[in-house]
Amino acid sequence: MPDDCIFCKIIAGQADADIVFRDDQITAFWDHRPAAPVHILVVPNKHIDSVNEADLQDAELLGKLILKARDLAKEQGVDERGYRLVLNVGPDGGQTVFHIHLHLIAGRRLPVFRE
Ligand code: 5GP
Ligand code: ZN
Repeated sequence: MPDDCIFCKIIAGQADADIVFRDDQITAFWDHRPAAPVHILVVPNKHIDSVNEADLQDAELLGKLILKARDLAKEQGVDERGYRLVLNVGPDGGQTVFHIHLHLIAGRRLPVFRE
């Protein structure tokens, strides 16, 4: 794991986070600066910098992130009203932590993306 990766530290139990799910492949925890009442980060335990660095052998793992986020949305009771799954890539995409993560954001009406 890269020494300076905060998400690797959280996954390894070396940094604190409010963890909502953990198995051998995925860890999910509350974002410490939530953008909405529900804001959970769904993170592969394997360090991959960004989607740009993912390869075909990561495809199943990346698919599991989506399905885990879906399950967490149900657990949080936001599945019917809806939620947003966001995966930022690179500086222009708004990525600030370079360990792939899916944002599950819900609990308020989110603005529609426009130019
Ligand atoms: P990004 O901007 O890379 O798509 O998303 C990074 C997210 O991680 C941000 O929403 C930020 O608030 C969250 N974050 C950054 N550092 C920490 C941390 O140490 N703990 C937690 N729980 N969330 C973090
Ligand atoms: Zn990492």
